[in-house]
Amino acid sequence: MPEQEFQPMGAAYAGWLAAQDSVPADGKNIPADGVCSGCDRLKRDHEGVERVLAIRKLKYFNPDMRRMVVKAGLPYCNCQRPRRAG
Ligand SMILES: [Zn+2]
Repeated sequence: MPEQEFQPMGAAYAGWLAAQDSVPADGKNIPADGVCSGCDRLKRDHEGVERVLAIRKLKYFNPDMRRMVVKAGLPYCNCQRPRRAG
């Protein structure tokens, strides 16, 4: 599959997820609880979200570069995460 550049699409991520059918079923859709209820964007550090992104090569570990590769324009939640004092 040719590398494809994704444009920033904000909350329209559901569209480009649905548009691609050549991925495993469990990598097709962001889980409902992986979407922030405050802003309808992707939660950070959510296992299901991270897996979908990895399957779609939107965010994955590149062993050659030895670092995480993250595509620009991922519609991540920008809400302030609750912080617990440890
Ligand atoms: Zn949010």
